[in-house]
Amino acid sequence: MITSTKNPIKKRQRIVLVGIPASPGYAMGHCHTISNREVTVVEETLPNERLAQEEQLFLKAINNTIKDIVQIKQITVNRLGIDEGRIFDAHLMILKDPTLVNGILDQIKKENKNAQWAVHTQITQLISTFESHKSALMRDRAMDLKDLYHRLMGALEDSGPVISEDEIGNGVILVGHELNPSTLISLKKDQVIAFATDSGGRTSHVSILARSMEIPAVSGLRNVSAMVQPEDSIIVDGTGGMIIINPNDDDIRKYEEKLEVFKRQQRELFTMRQLEPMTRDGKYITLHANIELTIEADKVLDYGASGIGLYRSEFLFFRKGLPSFEEQVQAYQYILNALTPNSVTIRTLDAGGDKLVADISISNEANPFMGWRSIRVCLDHEDLFKEQLKALITANTQGNLRILLPMISSMQELRRSKAHIETCKKELEAKGIFSPKIELGIMIEVPAAVVLVDKFAKEVDFFSIGTNDLIQFTLAVDRTNELISSMFQPHHPAVLNMIHKTVMAAHREGIPVAVCGEMSADPMSTLLLVGLGVDELSMTPWSIMECKKIIRSINYEDVRETAHNVLKMDDTESINAYLKKKYSQTITDLGISSFISSGDLDGDSNPS
Ligand code: PEP
Ligand code: MG
Repeated sequence: MITSTKNPIKKRQRIVLVGIPASPGYAMGHCHTISNREVTVVEETLPNERLAQEEQLFLKAINNTIKDIVQIKQITVNRLGIDEGRIFDAHLMILKDPTLVNGILDQIKKENKNAQWAVHTQITQLISTFESHKSALMRDRAMDLKDLYHRLMGALEDSGPVISEDEIGNGVILVGHELNPSTLISLKKDQVIAFATDSGGRTSHVSILARSMEIPAVSGLRNVSAMVQPEDSIIVDGTGGMIIINPNDDDIRKYEEKLEVFKRQQRELFTMRQLEPMTRDGKYITLHANIELTIEADKVLDYGASGIGLYRSEFLFFRKGLPSFEEQVQAYQYILNALTPNSVTIRTLDAGGDKLVADISISNEANPFMGWRSIRVCLDHEDLFKEQLKALITANTQGNLRILLPMISSMQELRRSKAHIETCKKELEAKGIFSPKIELGIMIEVPAAVVLVDKFAKEVDFFSIGTNDLIQFTLAVDRTNELISSMFQPHHPAVLNMIHKTVMAAHREGIPVAVCGEMSADPMSTLLLVGLGVDELSMTPWSIMECKKIIRSINYEDVRETAHNVLKMDDTESINAYLKKKYSQTITDLGISSFISSGDLDGDSNPS
């Protein structure tokens, strides 16, 4: 979170860019640019030594495309039947056609062309031949070819040499159009001290991961990747959401001071960790941690959490090859043991969206967040799901596991998941493996789940509201799209009413409600969520101490009244103005510098 490398500053133009504060802290160093998306097809003549690499690039792209089509075929067979699934046989036949594949390879190897150009020329030629054919059947094949053309082009971009561990030195600042969580996680600790990207928002998973890894980051800078040059010096201000390219001496001095203050504030916050998260009038709020990496389990208690409210298990799957059953048991046991007897909520695989898992996900879906992701993937891949469930049950030797199912949107999905859990338990019991009781919860993150929340409350042991997705789906605002980041409003009346409805339904059935989206760590939202009756807040570990500070400064009765008043209001601006008037002084007095500042509550979070 607080890192700097000594920097011989080059005298290039000083540029200040404002974006979205994705992860707090300050860093100064040299930038390492990551390759961007290529959108146009460029013809290149390559030197002989590049040909083997280009050939591999093409083979990887074609294999990934074949894998994607096989997945899509399987889903079609499951959902619609064998005959419908056969539609994709034609695609697979084309992709495996030796004339086409060899034609592309020849163009790379014999004519020294880049893979993208070779794919482009070979397939567009075929498309025009098929399109001008007499037979309607052959003309139909042209459609398949066009589909494959786009898929292959997408796969070629994806499999492009974005970044590898050995390619970069130590202590660099990554700058690029976008950054995937799987790329960030694959780099060694200390290789990257900060990053800045054109795209993305606060709730993009790479931003969430940056906060877990305590790496300062600014996203949504729109065109930073085009403005920097390799080795430019750069300051990343993840707290304020800005960067300075080629800073002058004054900038450097100012940021060295800011860094010192930041470090001091962090040290002071640590004095909070043993204190109870209790309001002044005695209401206890459970504070749990969100983690993405198993090793984070070691520090959770030190940060003052009393358990883990969300372990995003998909991060275990971001590596070459899927984790084996044994590897999963080991990982889950590591976390459960580190926290015993405190509770640990492990969410089952939530792959997809902006968390592509190489061996599972489809790489170029049109709407990945609303696509084949999360519980949908697990229910289509029963073996994968059952293996994870069995690993979880086996790891629960201490009885502190809670299982959380992501993205549930129908009762059928919940019932099918429960049936799998029961089958897994029985199969393990037959082998002599018995597990203590495991509580089961669902994420409330799809509006359909809120509409049916009374019914769900009768079926599970707890709810965890995933506000990152709930806001995205309720307001139809892509959480990773910087262009509409100001519309991603946690205090929109529709969102607050949904949270209220969820809490009411849960409490009627006597089950607790957690909020594990990023909203829970925002100071103003914390007050509101407590007032709405949420029992548990779960957040990135280092936010817990600040959150405790806020909870200890408020009266439950007062925030309840605030929430009651807010629920009667009909627009975000009035809600934020009311909250600001009532609490911004308190927050300022507490010296809170959370990544979502109260200033953003005006609704314009991207001043660039
Ligand atoms: C959420 O959607 O709020 C959530 C906690 O899950 P994720 O951010 O992993 O989608
Ligand atoms: Mg989610």
